[in-house]
Amino acid sequence: MSHEHLAQELDDLAKSYGNRFLLEGAPDDHLPEHGMRSVDAMRLIGEELVLDGIPMRNLATFVTTWMEPEAARIIAENLHRNFIDHAEYPQTAEIEQRCIRMIADLFNAPGETTGARTQGSSEAIMLGALSLKWKWRGRREQAGKDLSRPNLVFGGDVHVVWEKFCRYFDVEPRIIPLQPDKYTIGPEDVEPHVDENTIGVAAVLGTTFTGHADDIVGINDLLLRLKDEQGMDVPLHVDAASGGFVWPFLYPHSEWDFRLEQVRSINVSGHKFGLVYPGIGWLVFRERSDLPEDLVFYENYLGKTDATFTLNFSTGSAMVLAQYYNFVRFGHGGYRYIMETMQANTRALAERITDIGEFRLIGDEGAEQLPLVAFQLEGEHDYDEFDVASQLAAERGWMVPAYTLPPNADHVKIMRALVKLTLGRSLVTTLADDIVDACQTLEKKGGLHPIDRRRVKTGTGY
Ligand SMILES: *Cc1c(COP(=O)(O)O)cnc(C)c1O
Repeated sequence: MSHEHLAQELDDLAKSYGNRFLLEGAPDDHLPEHGMRSVDAMRLIGEELVLDGIPMRNLATFVTTWMEPEAARIIAENLHRNFIDHAEYPQTAEIEQRCIRMIADLFNAPGETTGARTQGSSEAIMLGALSLKWKWRGRREQAGKDLSRPNLVFGGDVHVVWEKFCRYFDVEPRIIPLQPDKYTIGPEDVEPHVDENTIGVAAVLGTTFTGHADDIVGINDLLLRLKDEQGMDVPLHVDAASGGFVWPFLYPHSEWDFRLEQVRSINVSGHKFGLVYPGIGWLVFRERSDLPEDLVFYENYLGKTDATFTLNFSTGSAMVLAQYYNFVRFGHGGYRYIMETMQANTRALAERITDIGEFRLIGDEGAEQLPLVAFQLEGEHDYDEFDVASQLAAERGWMVPAYTLPPNADHVKIMRALVKLTLGRSLVTTLADDIVDACQTLEKKGGLHPIDRRRVKTGTGY
């Protein structure tokens, strides 16, 4: 039989009994000459994705891995709606504005405010930090002062996006190193770095490393004192990517938001504790005047004047609608219940992990923290946190990352488990038992010591 015949026959058989791709590799470097049946394409992709981790076992990520079926339906039904087409989809635009007003209210904005829907906190931070830069430039221009050397002050405990902003937008990063035994920053750390070229200070509410907050009240007090004594008005931006939907519900009396005078802007990730699937973040300003006019683009597009303040243009509406779904579905009481549930399960997991006897928790008991357990090995072992992480993944598929902290705490190895809504009490117990098993296995076989682990990129699972 000729080669062509054989191919034809295989094709025919495949059509009846399976898929052609079962006998071939997946197209991976050019568009295939001919397509395949839709059901085959779907199966091909489904088969490949089996190799990915299961999102609900991903205790590394802060990002939402489960939403209610009704929310999933809203999302599926609105994938065809381009968010930027405000003239065509005015009600979607109105729903965005409702979300911004609700978040500004949650963060205790004093009056009318403004903000933006973004792709995530990264875009929100770029826009917020650009506003700081523009505002600083305006103040300097008015005073007839030099504009050439803006700087931004933040701690080593921030997310990488802050350094990215500085590099992309030409601002000197003044990064305050962590201390060997202190993993957040306070006013005494900030003060030596602030000068007349400081466009702002960024503080974190819920760091990705340990889940704690910088001393935002202390930093605000410092900035107020500088304003009072030296006439330097340095604004404070709070990176509440994770903490913005946790603190208002778990620690309502703790002040970190617009209740503090120097806090001019805040970002929060809707797709973290806002409980929406990936693709949504928010930026809110204290007052309208905190957004420099120059950064807003007015354009006549498709017949209507539209004001935009974004880095992207076209994007989906689905996650905005999903955010609004959560707001109306849960309300304040619902979010509080969910956060308290996660906190209770966090405490249960922390207790189980300390009971094992091999680990110590990071941070003081009772400290305000995201719902996560950050822990490290205590005492002498033939294995380390990286080994425990690999063993847990190998035995059960749990994704619990191990990583080292930023300088000057980079000798500190940590493991961290997020306790989200899908990690109920029964799974908490199972996870703790699995950690015990992993340690017992490692006790017998030892760790994998030869690698310089600091060079191993594990990521902390942002
Ligand atoms: C996750 C995170 C970011 C980045 O947010 P995205 O929504 O992933 O873009 C920034 N800062 C902190 C503190 C974070 O936790």
